[in-house]
Amino acid sequence: MGKVGVALAAGCAAAACVVAAVMVGRSVRRRRGWRRVVRVLEELEEGCATTVGRLRQVVDAMAVEMHAGLASEGGSKLKMLLTYVHDLPTGNEKGIYYALDLGGTNFRVLRVKLGGQRCIIEHDVDLQPIPQHLMTSSSELFDFIATSLKDFVEREENISEPSQRERRELGFTFSFPVKQTSSSSGTLMKWTKGFSIEDAVGRDVSQCLQEALSRKGLDMQVTVLINDTVGTLALGHYHDEDTVAAVIIGTGTNACYLERADAIIKCQGLLTTSAGMVINMEWGNFWSSHLPRTPYDAELDADSPNPNDQGFEKMISGMYLGDIVRRVILRMSQESDVFGPVSSKLHEPFILRTPMVAAMHEDDSSNLNEVAQILKDTLEIPDVPLNVRKLVVKVCDVVTRRAARLAAAGIVGILKKIGRDGNSGMTGGKTKGGSRIKMRRTVVAVEGGLYANYTMFREYLNEAMRQILGEDVAPYVILNVTNDGSGIGAALLAASHSASTITENTNFIVI
Ligand code: ADP
Ligand code: MG
Repeated sequence: MGKVGVALAAGCAAAACVVAAVMVGRSVRRRRGWRRVVRVLEELEEGCATTVGRLRQVVDAMAVEMHAGLASEGGSKLKMLLTYVHDLPTGNEKGIYYALDLGGTNFRVLRVKLGGQRCIIEHDVDLQPIPQHLMTSSSELFDFIATSLKDFVEREENISEPSQRERRELGFTFSFPVKQTSSSSGTLMKWTKGFSIEDAVGRDVSQCLQEALSRKGLDMQVTVLINDTVGTLALGHYHDEDTVAAVIIGTGTNACYLERADAIIKCQGLLTTSAGMVINMEWGNFWSSHLPRTPYDAELDADSPNPNDQGFEKMISGMYLGDIVRRVILRMSQESDVFGPVSSKLHEPFILRTPMVAAMHEDDSSNLNEVAQILKDTLEIPDVPLNVRKLVVKVCDVVTRRAARLAAAGIVGILKKIGRDGNSGMTGGKTKGGSRIKMRRTVVAVEGGLYANYTMFREYLNEAMRQILGEDVAPYVILNVTNDGSGIGAALLAASHSASTITENTNFIVI
């Protein structure tokens, strides 16, 4: 071999060494990046830990806060609002009733025909989006609703038999915080969910609607004013009278339940009846130091328009789960290059919605095509390798599991407060000596898009219920999914509160 040949060989060897060194360097970096990203996941798992022991602490805290909220106005972050609903539908109600459901982006008008014997003969629903500009103008909003209701009534009564009542009766579901003054009236405390009509705050919501109905010449009485949880409880109770509480797990989360009159200390003397009452907990605002909070939750809260508010809701409900997952992926992407360069989309709040989290979590294809698709289309992160897709699924799992288990703890907290958790004396599955005593069947009505549509969420919630309650008690606690409870329930309550049927149908709550 000549000199040139030797030089060439030496040059090739050197180049090969450089290439090898670059490749080794890259793989070391990738491994380091991978290790960092796994560390982020481990920290998330630790931060979101919901051992049964911790869930029981949340149960206790919920029951304690409920007591405090009932003891005095402002006694707890739980407002424990009075509804003045003392009686729930029995199933004997008959006739045609209307309902109006206003509480989010859409509003619904319903007509329900009741046949007695727990029979809803028919119900018709008309759903309409609320025009954006009306969310900031009160008289126009109520006039718009009244006009829609009038059109609906005229249409319905043309195609079916006219209502036989002299005056039609309406249940109004208004899912914003209201200080009730009776079961059919209350003043608006504040708007949420994008509504802001200043002159309506502090006004009687029923009266605003009633006046608009008169202006439009529609002869209809607002018989009850409720929120969506109360409607869900009414529908649940109509079908099954062991129903004692209702929980909404959708865009937001809230719960209500039946309370004994003597336990509502803050209104002793105000109540004219010794019957129980439905309490609207506004549980989205529950807070306890036992809640497993991560830096992602703190950041989400700080960036929200209502910091320090609705802490429980921000860990549980559909409005927020997607954004927690987005924040974790952003952190992973900043910590390493396993997602490639940081996508600007990862900085956009609420771009990753909870149904997308569900779709990724429940992707059962072998190479996680759905995950890859959502990362590419929504977050503009293309070509994510399979091990990184698996990591994303795990993040969805951790965030959803925590949410579902906390919701379960909240539900058991309510049961504990009313002595239906199996640990409260006579209702227990076993006495201290171990002999069996009878546990009462207890039903909780559950409604909302997150619980109804996200199978993994529902399964985690049910599993946590069994773990917290234990095998002896869990079979006695039933979660019943209701549909359209916020609307149909309002019509049912209009029926049970109707002047013409009240004596026939009254079923004062005996707890
Ligand atoms: P609202 O709470 O506004 O009355 P819903 O009860 O229908 O409405 O809940 C809608 C919410 O449920 C959505 O904002 C979304 O967060 C959640 N959701 C709906 N479908 C799904 C799904 N397939 N998977 C996960 N979450 C869902
Ligand atoms: Mg709803």
